[in-house]
Amino acid sequence: MLENAVSGAGGAVWGAGAVGCHVPKGTAVHEPPGAESLSYSFTLPAGPHNARIARQVARNVLAAHGLEELHDAAVQVVSELAACAWRFTPTPEVYVCLRYRGEALRVIVYDGHPRHTNPRLAATCDGQRKASLRLAAAVVKACQGEWGFGDAREPGGGTRMWAVLPHVPTVAFGRPERAYRKAARGPRA
Ligand SMILES: [Zn+2]
Repeated sequence: MLENAVSGAGGAVWGAGAVGCHVPKGTAVHEPPGAESLSYSFTLPAGPHNARIARQVARNVLAAHGLEELHDAAVQVVSELAACAWRFTPTPEVYVCLRYRGEALRVIVYDGHPRHTNPRLAATCDGQRKASLRLAAAVVKACQGEWGFGDAREPGGGTRMWAVLPHVPTVAFGRPERAYRKAARGPRA
């Protein structure tokens, strides 16, 4: 059937009877992805710009999934974790994961800094990392979330930092008025 023929950018034409890749996509294919499908992982070149890049990615990802209302806190936390990873990592890359599950945004950042075997050195290093994460900790606390860091379980080792931002208090973060107005309008569509 001619009306079903598709012309590709390269000029190729697939007509009736051609074997195509018919992956069923359902009717919702053009709808924006929902919050629960937010799941992204990426490596960032470790450097002074990685916090800014991580912020931009987080902003885009949240917007794509209709989670702009989490921006203020989430982008700040992603930025702080990425900046900390750069300060501590000896490796040329750091790794960032963003996931939304169970009404909360989860941020994980891995860096290549090995955990110290000497307890005194480990305590000093952890103290420095905690100091570096002071702002992130304050934001997470204001959002009634949790955070921490420890051994990366990945084969390459290193350090894993994580933060969980529960949806409702994270929306309210820094925007009590707006949160109130949204609540007054009822639950999210
Ligand atoms: Zn160290």
